[in-house]
Amino acid sequence: MARQRLDLGLDDRIGDMSDDAIYCRTYGHTNMPRPSGRARRAELRQQGLAESGLVCQVCGRDRTDLIDLSTWEVVSSSTTYPEGYLIKGGQGRLPRAAARKAMFVRRNWV
Ligand SMILES: [Zn+2]
Repeated sequence: MARQRLDLGLDDRIGDMSDDAIYCRTYGHTNMPRPSGRARRAELRQQGLAESGLVCQVCGRDRTDLIDLSTWEVVSSSTTYPEGYLIKGGQGRLPRAAARKAMFVRRNWV
């Protein structure tokens, strides 16, 4: 079987994405819980709510989920991405396969 020519060109949307951001888009975030302070917990509990903060130890992405204590469902979520995580032009997150390719090419793993 003939070998196909390998395309190692990277997605233009990667731009200045950091290596950490590309790692997290490939393998997922490494989360550590960030509990709310006592006063915030009391305030939320009076409203039947709780919140769960998660901070990625690799890229710094910070997500907070608001939880309804009657159902334990997440009712809203907010995320703050570090500089260099989102692709250029407000187009959101890089597709996972494109991130994997970028990681392999940047690190000379292929
Ligand atoms: Zn991350």
